[in-house]
Amino acid sequence: MARDHGEAIGRTIGCRRCGRKRGMIRRHGLRLCRQCFRHVAPEIGFKKLS
Ligand SMILES: [Zn+2]
Repeated sequence: MARDHGEAIGRTIGCRRCGRKRGMIRRHGLRLCRQCFRHVAPEIGFKKLS
């Protein structure tokens, strides 16, 4: 679910899931916005950000 077509990592500026640039979480090399992070966090083993 977390990966769609064309996962062009390397030049992705925004969220690699929805393309947003707001609320980006770049730590852990996730490159996800907070919204998407919340979606994928359980899948990848992270817990909620506090
Ligand atoms: Zn996103």
